[in-house]
Amino acid sequence: MRILFIGAGVSSTSLLKHLSELKLNENVAIDVVDSKNHIGRGQAYIEDSDVLRANVPVQEMSLDKDATHYERWLKEQGYVVDRFSSRRQFGEYMEDVLMSIVRANDNIQVIKDKIEHLDYDGQLFHCQIGNKEKCYDIVYLGIGMLEYMDPYELKGMENFIYNPYPIIKELKDVKQNVAIVGTGLSGIDCLRYLLIERNLGKVYMFNRSNELPAVRGTHYDFNFEYFTRDTLLKYVQDEQFTLENVKSLFIKEMRYQEISLELFERKSGDIIKDLQFDVDHPDTVGKLEYFLIEFNKIFTPFLHLLSKAEQKKLFEEYQPYISSNYSPMPREVATHIIEWLQSGRLEMIEDLEKIEKKELFILTADEKQYEMDVVINATGTNMDITSTKEPLVQHLYMKKLIEPHHLGGLKVDSHYHVVSPKYGVIKNFFAFGELTIGMTYLSNAVFDIFDMTREIAIEIKQTANNPAKNKKTD
Ligand SMILES: Cc1cc2nc3c(=O)[nH]c(=O)nc-3n(C[C@H](O)[C@H](O)[C@H](O)COP(=O)(O)OP(=O)(O)OC[C@H]3O[C@@H](n4cnc5c(N)ncnc54)[C@H](O)[C@@H]3O)c2cc1C
Repeated sequence: MRILFIGAGVSSTSLLKHLSELKLNENVAIDVVDSKNHIGRGQAYIEDSDVLRANVPVQEMSLDKDATHYERWLKEQGYVVDRFSSRRQFGEYMEDVLMSIVRANDNIQVIKDKIEHLDYDGQLFHCQIGNKEKCYDIVYLGIGMLEYMDPYELKGMENFIYNPYPIIKELKDVKQNVAIVGTGLSGIDCLRYLLIERNLGKVYMFNRSNELPAVRGTHYDFNFEYFTRDTLLKYVQDEQFTLENVKSLFIKEMRYQEISLELFERKSGDIIKDLQFDVDHPDTVGKLEYFLIEFNKIFTPFLHLLSKAEQKKLFEEYQPYISSNYSPMPREVATHIIEWLQSGRLEMIEDLEKIEKKELFILTADEKQYEMDVVINATGTNMDITSTKEPLVQHLYMKKLIEPHHLGGLKVDSHYHVVSPKYGVIKNFFAFGELTIGMTYLSNAVFDIFDMTREIAIEIKQTANNPAKNKKTD
C-alpha cells in the first residue's frame, strides 16, 4: 500500500502525526513530497525575518495533543517564550515534528520535489517524482494556498513586488516611497519588516477600505449552552437547519454568554481609535474572539448542509463581521501600528481605485493621486481553481479530477475525499487545508487543522486497511 502526501506543510504534518499515532500497517509506505525550502514549514513558516509574528498564541499552536508541546519545545531550544512566537520559530518546530515522525517510522520518507502532474486511472494514481514514474494507492493533497492575486495587473513590472515572501529577500532593497497594497496580515508583515528591521522613514498602506484585523484579547474557554452540535443535528433531522435558525441560535448563545452584539459594530473607521479600543478592552474583545472560535468548531461541519443560496448569503451578509474578529493581530503589533500612525511613519489611504505604471506607479485613491517608486502586493491569494496558474491544480482541473467549490478552493465531501466531475467521490484521494477553504470555512488556523486532520487520519487508515474499497468510487 503506497500513500503519497503532496505538500509537507501544516495539514500534512498534522495528518502524519495522527497517522503515526494510529499505527498504520507495516506494509504501508508513505512518500511526502515538497520543495526544499518548504518541507515541514508550509508557506507561512519559512525561514524569514523574526518580525513576522504568529497571530495565534504559543499555547494554541501545538502539533500535539499536549497543548504545552510547542511551548516546551521553544524552551528546550533556549528561546524566550512570549505570548506569540515568530513564524520562523514555528516553522523550525513543525519541521522538527515532521522529521521526528520520519525518523521514528522507516516506512515514511521525505522527497524534495514539486509535483506538477498527477493522473488517476480509476484505481491508482501516477506521477513523476524526480526522474522516476511512481504509482500510489492513496493520495493526500495538502498544497496550501494558490498563487497571489494581481488585481491591478502589475505582475512582471519593474519595482512591483508580486510575492513579498520571503520578506528578508524580496524587500531587502526597498527604499523610500513604498506602497503596500493590502492591510491584511501579509500587509502588516511587510510593514513591520520595513519599519522595524529596515528602519525606513515612512511607509504608505493602501486598501479599498481602511479596515485592519482586530486585536487579540484575553483567552476564554467556552462551554456552549444553546449553540451545540446536538441542537444543530436536531435542526438537520427536523429539516429546520436554515440560516435564520442558525442566526437565532447564535444570538441566543451570545446573550447567554453575556457578549454584546454591538461589538460587531464597534469599528468607527478611525483606525487609531478602533485599534486602541481593542488594546484597551482585551477581556471584552477576547471573549468575542474566542466565542467565534468555538462557534466555528461547532458550525463548520454543518455549513455544507445549508443551501447554496444561504451559504452565499452567510458569506455576503455576516461573514465580514465574523472574519474581522477571527484572525486578530497580537497586541504588540497593534500598539506599533498606533505609534507609527501617530508619528506619521505610516500613512493609511483607503478607497484605492486604480494603479497605473508610468515612470513611477500612480495610485489613485479618494480622487487623489500618489506617486510611488515601489508597490508591494499584499492583496491575498487566488481561491479559484479554475483560473489558477499553479501547474498541479491546473493539471488536475484539466483532467477533470477536481472541481471548484462554490465558496472557493476545491470540492471535497464531508470526509475530505476529493469530488471529481469525472469519477465522483474518489475514496482514495483526500484534500484538506487552505486548498479546501470553501468547505473548511474559517478553519485554517494551525489548531483547527491539527484537530480536523485527526478524522482524516482515521479515514486514511481505514482506506489503507481495506484496499479493495479503494477501487470503488461513488
Ligand atoms: C502569511 C500567513 C500567516 C499565517 N499565520 C498563522 C498563525 O500565526 N497561526 C495560525 O494558526 N495560522 C496561521 N496561518 C494559517 C495557517 O498557517 C495555514 O492555514 C496553514 O499553513 C495551511 O496548511 P496547508 O497544509 O493547507 O498549507 P501549507 O502549510 O502552506 O503547506 C502546503 C505545502 O505544500 C507545498 N506544495 C505546494 N504545491 C506543491 C506541489 N505541487 N508539490 C509539492 N509540494 C507542494 C508547499 O510548498 C507547502 O509547503 C497563516 C497563513 C498565512 C498565509
